[in-house]
Amino acid sequence: MLMQTDPTTATARPADPVARRRTFAIISHPDAGKTTLTEKLLLFGGAIQLAGEVKAKRNRIATRSDWMGIEKERGISVVTSVMTFEYGDCVFNLLDTPGHEDFSEDTYRTLTAVDSAVMVIDAAKGIEARTRKLFEVCRLRDIPIVTFVNKLDRESRDPFDLLDEIEKTLALDVAPVTWPIGRGRSFAGTYDLGQKRVRRLDAADEAATAPVSGLGDPLFDALLPEPGEADAWREEAELAEAGCKPFDLAAFREGHLTPVFFGSALRNFGVRDLIDGLAGVAPPPRGQAADRREVAPTEPKMTGFVFKIQANMDPNHRDRIAFMRVCSGRLTRGMKARLVRTGKPISLSAPQFFFAQDRAIADEAYAGDVVGIPNHGTLRIGDTLTEGEDLVFRGVPSFAPEILRRIKLTDAMKAKKLREALQQMGEEGVVQLFLPHDGSGAIVGVVGALQLDVLKERLQAEYGLPIDYEPTRFTICRWIDADSPAELDKFMAAHGSSMAADLDGAPVFMATTAFSLKYEQDRWTEIRFTDVKDYQ
Ligand code: GDP
Repeated sequence: MLMQTDPTTATARPADPVARRRTFAIISHPDAGKTTLTEKLLLFGGAIQLAGEVKAKRNRIATRSDWMGIEKERGISVVTSVMTFEYGDCVFNLLDTPGHEDFSEDTYRTLTAVDSAVMVIDAAKGIEARTRKLFEVCRLRDIPIVTFVNKLDRESRDPFDLLDEIEKTLALDVAPVTWPIGRGRSFAGTYDLGQKRVRRLDAADEAATAPVSGLGDPLFDALLPEPGEADAWREEAELAEAGCKPFDLAAFREGHLTPVFFGSALRNFGVRDLIDGLAGVAPPPRGQAADRREVAPTEPKMTGFVFKIQANMDPNHRDRIAFMRVCSGRLTRGMKARLVRTGKPISLSAPQFFFAQDRAIADEAYAGDVVGIPNHGTLRIGDTLTEGEDLVFRGVPSFAPEILRRIKLTDAMKAKKLREALQQMGEEGVVQLFLPHDGSGAIVGVVGALQLDVLKERLQAEYGLPIDYEPTRFTICRWIDADSPAELDKFMAAHGSSMAADLDGAPVFMATTAFSLKYEQDRWTEIRFTDVKDYQ
């Protein structure tokens, strides 16, 4: 193992609840194997008995609690939003980043609540579009990334080629921890470059690895029996040993370097190395930047911020669950917290803790944990809760939507009601709302198309507002800003029909094409165009 810190011995002191926590997410392109890997990770944690449950439970008809009802109704799992499990001395909080068709801004925002991420790459495909996007969101906060190259049991690309692609397309240094022995049909296991140990695919004991004398060891001839195969592999591994960067903990923690593991989630192979790696080198909860100061995770007073709201689709239940990341202190059931935005107290009488597939009432939670707080609309995305201190956490941003639609109200009499409802939906983070300066109808923006359906259904069900969408000529939007207010005013005056205000009244420039955006950017050099905006 080239790691400075040996993952098998470096786990935190069990007595220290903050140091033993690892809060992470998996980022990947659809079909790279995120679900499969999640199942296997949960198996290691002993959290579920049977692999396959993560997906199967999504379709299960449950009657156990109201929350289960919400999941059934929405077809989107609240339960799998956070999965907590223990492994070794660590408590892992795995935050689900909704993918596939339920890909939305929540997916991005979840990444503001983690301390590290596992990037899963399909060994045949390399870096794909969604992975890249999610990686860029991680980079905004320099989140350390651990890479898992998956599906080595299938025909795969040359490992050097994959590493090269990570380095070039993501501008991220790579440090392979293991190296695959064969690929596709000849995939026989992995070689731990630092520890000189082999993990065999055909091993009876999944946990066992065998020591080897070095690359010359005859074991490799046995594992790669085709003529010339073992020697060709030796050359490759030698190059990996000599040519790749050694693991550097500081560079990893700063988000500049990624340790790389190879394996097959489906075969549950290489997953133990990955989880040991996370336990060993992934950071415990980080300090969080707030408006007045940085909050250390070990501070005694409880603080936290809301990064996601899940609402009930059932009009009879206006309840919502707010997901809050605890940033410091100890959250206990029944405690009173202060909602800084309103200055009002909020009672945490039933915070929910997530143990894999089951939700339990939390008795206590620490920095890095995520609790679900049932409420009736009191909590919004970006809200800070404290034990009294007047501080607001930074860093739950808005991301420029990728789909823009104009709302068409079929009943013009209800325009005011629509405005209020959209305001509410915007605050909940369902969609982003843009009000064109020229007074034309509201434009909503989303990151994933499913959000449009969710908005339409909820406006109908909860507010009795039937709406339709109309295309708009705009396809891109950017928040704008400038050091000189006069320059900003000049720009806005020159682009009146392309300007809108977001929920907070911040100016947004809407462009018809990427080309026209670029054109304006080149012309107006004093204007800053940004695709990310802080909530506060
Ligand atoms: P997700 O969309 O990223 O959650 O991907 P899934 O975990 O659902 O996997 C997509 C498909 O790839 C499924 O058919 C999996 O069985 C398959 N798959 C996942 N991991 C592996 C692997 O290591 N090897 C092979 N051969 N197939 C895999």
